[in-house]
Amino acid sequence: MTSRTVAVVGGGIIGCLIAREVISRSPDTPVVVFDRDGIGSGASRRSAGLHFPRGATERVRQMSAYSHDYYADLAAKHPALPIHSLGMTVVATHTAASLAQIYLDRAALTPTDTVPGGLVQVPREAGVWRGQGCHYADVPALAQAIARELRPRVTFREGVRVTDVEAAGSEVLLRLSTGETCTAGRVVLAPGPWLTDRAWRDLVAPLHSRVKKVVAIHLEQEPGPADGVVVFQDEDAFLLPLRHRGHWLFSYTHDEWDVDPDTVSSGLDESVFAAAMPLLQQYSPTLAERVVGGRVFCDAYSVDRQPQVRALDPAGRVIFAGAANGSGYRLAPAIAAEAVGLLALDGQTSQPPKEMSPA
Ligand SMILES: Cc1cc2nc3c(=O)[nH]c(=O)nc-3n(C[C@H](O)[C@H](O)[C@H](O)COP(=O)(O)OP(=O)(O)OC[C@H]3O[C@@H](n4cnc5c(N)ncnc54)[C@H](O)[C@@H]3O)c2cc1C
Repeated sequence: MTSRTVAVVGGGIIGCLIAREVISRSPDTPVVVFDRDGIGSGASRRSAGLHFPRGATERVRQMSAYSHDYYADLAAKHPALPIHSLGMTVVATHTAASLAQIYLDRAALTPTDTVPGGLVQVPREAGVWRGQGCHYADVPALAQAIARELRPRVTFREGVRVTDVEAAGSEVLLRLSTGETCTAGRVVLAPGPWLTDRAWRDLVAPLHSRVKKVVAIHLEQEPGPADGVVVFQDEDAFLLPLRHRGHWLFSYTHDEWDVDPDTVSSGLDESVFAAAMPLLQQYSPTLAERVVGGRVFCDAYSVDRQPQVRALDPAGRVIFAGAANGSGYRLAPAIAAEAVGLLALDGQTSQPPKEMSPA
């Protein structure tokens, strides 16, 4: 590694797309991705992988639109990638006007009466809208496919933990679990929920991001080929047909904060079912009877509920990219574009769209 090297710490979906972005803008820049586990581990391994074209703030809507186009282009160029398009139904007590402020035009929401498929019952006070522009991905498989594409140009050091990051003059020193010390010109930290790793705890602390438990329930019912995602807008929950796995998934908001990614994944417990079941029984008594298991992990959340992409040191050599609030898959291309825009690479061929530059 030399002072031209860009080191990416974390080989989840965000780290992989950062490496891809560096190579697409500056093909000769040496890039090394470190992951203490394997490519597509961490939150990416547990992700439901849903993309829907929406955002609660203007910046997130722009990031969502950018990422939407990026994934559409990727899927068109590489049809074998595990990216599956889906129809969408939104169930909400919001008026059409307030939904239009959240969903992008490309969602093309139109009012309808029922949720297709007959699995969901709509509360009397709620409305139903059909929409488009959704997909879901097998996120770990996608991260690994991206790494496969990059391997001739990018070095992936799996099973290697970064134990210290030190900005030193015009370089950054990385200490590794192997005992090596490496030098890079720039480092991007994409550590998912490992915010308090002692290698960067002090650098990341000023962001005030926190780690929240994220849970999804598996429902043992085969999705039909035409089934789409059903979004329960008021509860920030959704039912997703995971066609490639042959069952449905129910994602809902679980409020348990400051969990540790190294210990959180000890399986479903009673509190998980206690929180999920009333909602599921309200919307789909049929699927509520098919609960068999699920996935438990966590993700990094920012104070302002927008992804964090910023320099952590005065010289701008160490960049943080993440804290995407449970939306790190669907916003990953935009996060990667912002992060690489901060790197000031030699021979960079394009800049991120102006509206995506961090404030
Ligand atoms: C159950 C669940 C469902 C979700 N569903 C969705 C969804 O439907 N749509 C959506 O958009 N998002 C969803 N998310 C969120 C999304 O998965 C995450 O935001 C996203 O995967 C984060 O990607 P990342 O690359 O930042 O982090 P990660 O995927 O966590 O990757 C970080 C990597 O850093 C590595 N690492 C950590 N510390 C070190 C170190 N010291 N040295 C070297 N490597 C290190 C880890 O091993 C890990 O592989 C979900 C998350 C969960 C848990």
